[in-house]
Amino acid sequence: MRKITIVGAGQAGLQLGIGLIDHGFDVTIVSNRTGDQIREGRVMSSQAMFGTALAHERNLGLDFWGDACPSIAGLGASIADGQGGRALSFDARLDATARSIDQRVKMPLWMGEFARRGGRLELCEAGIEDLERYAAESDLVIVAAGKGEIAGLFERDAMRSPYDAPQRALALAYVTGMAALPDRPGVSFNVIPGVGEYFTMPSLTTSGPCDIMFFEGIPGGPLDCFDGLTPHEQLAKFQELLRTYVPWEAERCTDVTLTDGNGTLAGRFAPTVRKPVATLPSGAQVLGLADVVVLNDPITGQGSNNASKCAASYLSTILDHGERPYDAAFMELAFGRFWDTAEAATTWTNAMLGAPPQHVLELFGAASANSRIAARFVNGFDDPRDLFRWFMDPVAAKNYLTEVGA
Ligand SMILES: Cc1cc2nc3c(=O)[nH]c(=O)nc-3n(C[C@H](O)[C@H](O)[C@H](O)COP(=O)(O)OP(=O)(O)OC[C@H]3O[C@@H](n4cnc5c(N)ncnc54)[C@H](O)[C@@H]3O)c2cc1C
Repeated sequence: MRKITIVGAGQAGLQLGIGLIDHGFDVTIVSNRTGDQIREGRVMSSQAMFGTALAHERNLGLDFWGDACPSIAGLGASIADGQGGRALSFDARLDATARSIDQRVKMPLWMGEFARRGGRLELCEAGIEDLERYAAESDLVIVAAGKGEIAGLFERDAMRSPYDAPQRALALAYVTGMAALPDRPGVSFNVIPGVGEYFTMPSLTTSGPCDIMFFEGIPGGPLDCFDGLTPHEQLAKFQELLRTYVPWEAERCTDVTLTDGNGTLAGRFAPTVRKPVATLPSGAQVLGLADVVVLNDPITGQGSNNASKCAASYLSTILDHGERPYDAAFMELAFGRFWDTAEAATTWTNAMLGAPPQHVLELFGAASANSRIAARFVNGFDDPRDLFRWFMDPVAAKNYLTEVGA
């Protein structure tokens, strides 16, 4: 039986580990936290996941929540006009329902499921010596440690990483008591030009359904103000900023309260693509998975989606590979297949961090008057490759607007 060790019990590591167990592999997942520590710890993400990524989970029998999780039927976008109003606004339904399940809810349950199906969980903050041990004992070692320090073993791919510093200050809060926006059937995405973005989305947390408030602030700007705040100070700051920049969202939040004392997060990181193979001092090689190799800013909500897609893609490459050795060529092949889809998500996400070009402003303007354009944009969150056929390029955008008569 082929033995695979995965470092990191997050979205990607657990999904891949469970998929491998189901196909008869001997799998160990190394986690630096127990399920209880994850459940009782700080929130980590807003983790909105779209149809394709959710289908990969469902195919492995990993949907344990069904209707208990609020569904995200669509996405609405607004651009603030800087004077308390909206310059434009549109919303559309997703072809397949999306949803967000607090990783504090999902990962402990998946850890239990992994063990139940025959996987072995090891508790360890894995370092280089541990990786050497896993490499000596396993046919393949996969590092799925997200933003963990160990990801630094993988060399930054400068060609694929246009930024070398964080492009947004990130801050989120899990709350109850948010009023629904009647025209917004799920995610509300607000762009505050030159300042940042503000999102809301329904989610399922440890205490039940909730909403997530999520700010992305351009560094050095007025939304870059969350460092060192207590959870209650952060929520009060959120309400103050909403009144100033997105008053239509402030109205929804007059009565919100935090879901729990660990329901806030603030931080920043540089979006980074890394080379997929790291070589240990002994010469043994290990393969990076998901955020370890493709770490995107959350502005487009692609990270958990990519993690699920990466896990599914690596699983099929491993299965296709049969009994051949998991050498560097295999690792490059596995990453290359994933990059075929991840490149679009990464390029689009990096573009959204810059000021929108004229053709994008025209497309948003057209979307606010034409539901077909709005729907195509909204469904690009599930499959960003489609955005490269009409949204990302000025000529393609012009042709598309002509085609739809806008
Ligand atoms: C503020 C914010 C909002 C986000 N919102 C969204 C969103 O709406 N939609 C979306 O799709 N994505 C979103 N993301 C991104 C998403 O959360 C990540 O891309 C996704 O969780 C990555 O999955 P992963 O399995 O690669 O890593 P992770 O989920 O980070 O899992 C890695 C695991 O490895 C463990 N680990 C780390 N180091 C070690 C070690 N040395 N030894 C053992 N274990 C280790 C960690 O504790 C963790 O459990 C957001 C991220 C942030 C920060």
